[in-house]
Amino acid sequence: MRRYLVAGNWKMNMGPAAGCQLTAEVQDLLKGRALKGDVLVCPPYLTIPAVSEIAKGEPVLLGAQNCSDQEKGAYTGQVSVDMLKEAGVQYVIIAHSERREYQKETDDQFVAKINRIHQAGLKAIFCFGEVLGERKEGRAEEVVRQQLQGVLPKLEFANAYNTVLAYEPVWAIGTGETATPEQAQEIHAFTRGVVSELMGKEVADFMRILYGGSCKPGNARELIGLPDVDGGLIGGAALKAEDFVGIIDGAESGQN
Ligand code: PEP
Repeated sequence: MRRYLVAGNWKMNMGPAAGCQLTAEVQDLLKGRALKGDVLVCPPYLTIPAVSEIAKGEPVLLGAQNCSDQEKGAYTGQVSVDMLKEAGVQYVIIAHSERREYQKETDDQFVAKINRIHQAGLKAIFCFGEVLGERKEGRAEEVVRQQLQGVLPKLEFANAYNTVLAYEPVWAIGTGETATPEQAQEIHAFTRGVVSELMGKEVADFMRILYGGSCKPGNARELIGLPDVDGGLIGGAALKAEDFVGIIDGAESGQN
């Protein structure tokens, strides 16, 4: 019912030459395969045009890691959604925990960015998730609800197809710690329930909810095979073609 999405977030890694090489390696490993889901790479801004030349949705789609909340003009250092669209971008990651933490981005900025992404006909991947202290205090669901409630009801054009959610427990990102299948399924099912309350059951049934946090070839099948997990947002393991494709293999066999 929901196609999986395996999305690689390269973060501040891979210049144009290395990014093209990695993309070509992934394409090579996937050549001739009819996939059941979607595969996406999200390079740094500077690398996007080079990767765009070779990632033409066959089967690798192109995404960005951020965008401006403004349309255009005097915003030094920012990149607009229209520029990303012109470069071939189809998805934009918003609200990654690193941007929440280091750039102190707010719900209002996430809403403004996602509205611009949707207006341009692109898809948003909205990230959320609790930090370790919040989980230890038993507040994971409360935090997740707060993060979803702060953004989803204010989106003007969101639907099940132009919006992807990514549950990323912050304590599992880049740490080698992974949520157990029970923990992941629990929060994913909870998230789908909140989406149903906020946007309706039909939207909740069709909206993809990815898991992110130390996903690897060895645990991808189990995680992505869970009933409410519809793919993965992958950091470190997306930087090696074999590992990234190993996760895609896991998604292929685990897809429910
Ligand atoms: C991420 O930063 O989105 C992420 C999931 O990273 P990692 O896979 O390295 O934990």
